Amino acid sequence: MGLRKAFALAAAVAASCLLAPAAGAATGARPPVVWLKGEGNFTKAHRTVQSIDRIVVHVTEGSFWGSVRWLKNPRAHASSHYVVARSGRIVQLVHLSDIAWHAGYWPTNEQSVGIEHEGYTYGPDAFTDAQYRASARLAAWIARRSLMPIDRRHLIGHAQVPDGRGGSGGSSHHSDPGPHWNWNRYLRLVRQYAGVVRLSVKPVLPEGPLRGIVAWRAKASPDIGRVEFIVDGRVVHVDRRRPFAYPLNTAKLANRGYRLQVHGIAGPGRYDVEGQRVVVDNKTFALTSAGARPWMLAPPTIRLRVRPWGQKAAKMVFTVDGKVRAIDRRPPFLFAWSSKKAKPGRHVLVVVATSIDHRTATRRIPLVVPGPPKPRPRPTPAKPKPVALALASMSVAEGQELTGLVVWRVDVRGRAQRVDFLVDGVLRGSDVAAPYTLGLNAEAERPGEHRLTARAVGANGTSVERTVTVSVPPPASGTG
Ligand SMILES: [Zn+2]
Repeated sequence: MGLRKAFALAAAVAASCLLAPAAGAATGARPPVVWLKGEGNFTKAHRTVQSIDRIVVHVTEGSFWGSVRWLKNPRAHASSHYVVARSGRIVQLVHLSDIAWHAGYWPTNEQSVGIEHEGYTYGPDAFTDAQYRASARLAAWIARRSLMPIDRRHLIGHAQVPDGRGGSGGSSHHSDPGPHWNWNRYLRLVRQYAGVVRLSVKPVLPEGPLRGIVAWRAKASPDIGRVEFIVDGRVVHVDRRRPFAYPLNTAKLANRGYRLQVHGIAGPGRYDVEGQRVVVDNKTFALTSAGARPWMLAPPTIRLRVRPWGQKAAKMVFTVDGKVRAIDRRPPFLFAWSSKKAKPGRHVLVVVATSIDHRTATRRIPLVVPGPPKPRPRPTPAKPKPVALALASMSVAEGQELTGLVVWRVDVRGRAQRVDFLVDGVLRGSDVAAPYTLGLNAEAERPGEHRLTARAVGANGTSVERTVTVSVPPPASGTG
């Protein structure tokens, strides 16, 4: 710690609340501690014991009770999880799940437990046997629960904490616990109190529903050499190197509950399995766009703005008619395309996005590029006017002499519904289809002149007619 000033020994702190010093030394058990919760000078957190990865050893640079009072005081802007007295008494000030301000370096604070020891880094007095033993029992208990290896990489002095700028000792460059602290003795005691560490593996996962790529870790006891990561009974990854971890891409899994397990293997028949139920809840990855609507008539320049939805996009590929035109890796995703040189007709813009968790989404926009301006259309030929109804010709001519059987034929222009044949004004017959004909027997007619009238009748009741005068000769004398 960094006590600028230790408070005077605080007799006011009720001695009655202290437990008697540890009597038994059962391996692995937590030594007795007295809770004196500090106020305000720590960060509330919900650390699991598995997330703890370091124990930082400090020296108070002051008396036990003065230090305890100081570290409980919000004005100190410093705290520690535990303070161990020269007598071996332990006071706890901050819960293990909360983050104490002891290392002077936030990443270390976040993942560590701070243990202060009554004494002076450069003072004349050595640390006491009771103090080493109490602290070692405490460290052993923490190490066993958090599956922390008991070594000098995980049990460190304040002097070893980085300062974040390439130096050490935290931001104030502390040098505790200093040369009097006997690390070999301390580690030997911690190992002794920890006893034989049970072979053990535990999954470490973020809280709450899982989304995207999740850092799935396995905390394993030191003898475990490889860890299998298992989803619903299926091994998805085997890690043979510490730290055992697998980036689980939950985007490849359907949204539902899963059982995730870690299988730590130390050797033949020596393994541990532990699982945890999780819920995967990813949002759909999709695209929205502005600047072009499907099947629109393309303007000379199209400016397409595409937005991912449900997940961040790592990449967007813009193609026109299957040819890649642009690749963009960060928002805003803007694509421009000039349609001026494109052939008239249909073109297809496609944006394919890849999300940061390797999903894809596609936006497809077919467009129509207009052709060059059309020449003025030629005047279409006028519809032929209906031909006026008329009598074109007749097989019987004016002044003709009729003898024998005569076929009276009429040719009509235009559309006739029928042609009437009249002799001397009397209807003799009608014909409804061309060729319009009527047979006349001249011998049956009265000799002399006759008027033959052909009358063509059109659809709307109009009619045209022609009359010729013919003659029928008297019967030849002497016949019959
Ligand atoms: Zn310190």
